[in-house]
Amino acid sequence: MRTPTELLVIFDCDGVLVDSEPIALSVLGEMLKSQQVFLTEDEIADRFLGRSLGAVAEIVEQEFGRHLPEDFPALIRRRLFKRYEHELRAMPGVFSALEALALRGIATCVASSSQPERIEKSLAVTGLSATFGTRLYSATMVKAGKPAPDLFLHAARQCGYSPANCIVIEDSPAGIIAARAAGMRVFAFGGGGHAGAPAFRQKIAALKPDASFDAMTDLLQLVEGSRSSEDSLHG
Ligand SMILES: [Mg+2]
Repeated sequence: MRTPTELLVIFDCDGVLVDSEPIALSVLGEMLKSQQVFLTEDEIADRFLGRSLGAVAEIVEQEFGRHLPEDFPALIRRRLFKRYEHELRAMPGVFSALEALALRGIATCVASSSQPERIEKSLAVTGLSATFGTRLYSATMVKAGKPAPDLFLHAARQCGYSPANCIVIEDSPAGIIAARAAGMRVFAFGGGGHAGAPAFRQKIAALKPDASFDAMTDLLQLVEGSRSSEDSLHG
């Protein structure tokens, strides 16, 4: 087992590594409208942020009694990928944050509710692929997606770290709940294009993440701070 000071930082992808949620929420809104499900952007964010497209179909069915067509996730993905090519950007400051973690020997990986192709696409169009290599974990690899802890536990196991040595970086309530359930520390990132609304920020704060931050340039310091408090804990 690793010593307490060895850390794995597990990054959510959408809304953390890449600023994809404004695009995703807009595409999802258009597609739901085409199925006669009319929701405002806030209502869409409230229900679906951080959830897989499979979960979206389930929620729509339960809440609106509307069965979405089988190819709904595929249609969304196709439309999203097209917009990603032109619009998707890496989160500001994320390259230097990742480089700083690597220089200190802190391991990183990605754990996302999206399908592997979407994670790969997101990282490829923003130039982040090389940083993570094959350390990409998708909800499709486990039985239950976020807010269940399964995906984070899977990622930690694959990378060889115990939950106590993991820090999760998340933007969504579902992801924060999942990290907690996995017994991991969780830092809430609120710098994405979708994360500014006061109601959303209140919802995140109510979940009491171990830290909250809006600028990737602050990440290293937070991680280091968490590591030194753990040192004294075990020292
Ligand atoms: Mg997210």
